[in-house]
Amino acid sequence: MGTYLGLLQRRHADTLIQRLRGAGYHVLGPVVQDGTIRYAPVDGFDRLPAGWVEQQAPGHYRLQKRDSPRCFSWTLGPQGLKPLTFAPEEPLWTVERRHGHGLEFHSHFPETKKQAVLGVRACDLAALALQDRHFLGGPHPDERYRRRREGLLLIAVHCHRAAPTCFCASTGDGPRAHHGFDLALSELDEGYLVEAGSEAGHALAAALPLIPPQPGQQARAEREIRHAGEAQERRLPGRDLMTALRARRDAAHWEEIGRRCLACGNCTSVCPTCFCHCHQERPHPTEDRSSHYRQWDSCFTSGHSYIHGIVIREDTALRYRQWLSHKLGEWHAQYGRSGCVGCGRCITWCPVGIDLTHETAALLAAPPDDSEACDA
Ligand code: SF4
Ligand code: SF4
Repeated sequence: MGTYLGLLQRRHADTLIQRLRGAGYHVLGPVVQDGTIRYAPVDGFDRLPAGWVEQQAPGHYRLQKRDSPRCFSWTLGPQGLKPLTFAPEEPLWTVERRHGHGLEFHSHFPETKKQAVLGVRACDLAALALQDRHFLGGPHPDERYRRRREGLLLIAVHCHRAAPTCFCASTGDGPRAHHGFDLALSELDEGYLVEAGSEAGHALAAALPLIPPQPGQQARAEREIRHAGEAQERRLPGRDLMTALRARRDAAHWEEIGRRCLACGNCTSVCPTCFCHCHQERPHPTEDRSSHYRQWDSCFTSGHSYIHGIVIREDTALRYRQWLSHKLGEWHAQYGRSGCVGCGRCITWCPVGIDLTHETAALLAAPPDDSEACDA
């Protein structure tokens, strides 16, 4: 149960955005765009998707409007926080030929800007914590990620509804947000129960016209959040699958998945924890300069496993095996937990409806490889 500081009545909800803007934040919130819900600049709650919910299923996403004042009854669109901290594409440096004076390099770094994101879900906070660990945790923190991350203020919304593709309860990452937010909201028809998770969140809450919650409101919010977890039908067969997947590297089911998978990379694009990227040199067509770009990559591309003239993972079955085994298995050795936060995006946005919860269950139902194959 959260420690609610008070209720922000629906008619005063805009004060939250006004206070953020007053403190110099560029405010992003969920909006309906191109048939989905995604983050975009907002200046008032009337921009938010009041009444909108989505239908999600493997390979299926449709928005539906209901008669409800609630702005956060939808669960997840295709976009998490990933593009806000790890840009889909960005120049790292430009090199220019200075005739007679060699080459001159210029680095490119994003400006640190104050951004507040409204409506962040528990699974996306868990994914951000993983990305922080990857990009900032080692001896060489990623400066571009750090600059974008530093300016973020996060306003979470606990999920009161789960999509049929959600399974955050089984990964332990939702539907309630426990960590990583500055402010968290529980939405009721009459307004928002407010919790603070940081000093900045407490300062923001203190500037809001909160009133004490009415009897029963907190219990109702908690009941709805609990129900969102209990209603989830999908789950993974365990949290640490490293040993089980290592023991099934030669399972016939990888080939079966490989026949259905298009190797399109949609799953890795929408996955909030995938961080693979590639580098590209883009020479200017007429001038003596060239820019070096970093862009998202996917373990489903041939280039991802290209080394010295050889594509290591030639066929799609091997690429899917790499993705799933890394995400659910090898991440434990690298980061101490699974790389899956149970958001279900890879299920919804897979054009052929491949469902990692079903595939994992099918793989684990197969007997382990013989010990000789296991050691190979
Ligand atoms: S693997 Fe799929 S369900 Fe898990 S975090 Fe990535 S997109 Fe979400
Ligand atoms: S699993 Fe689905 S989304 Fe991922 S590469 Fe294969 S077809 Fe594309």
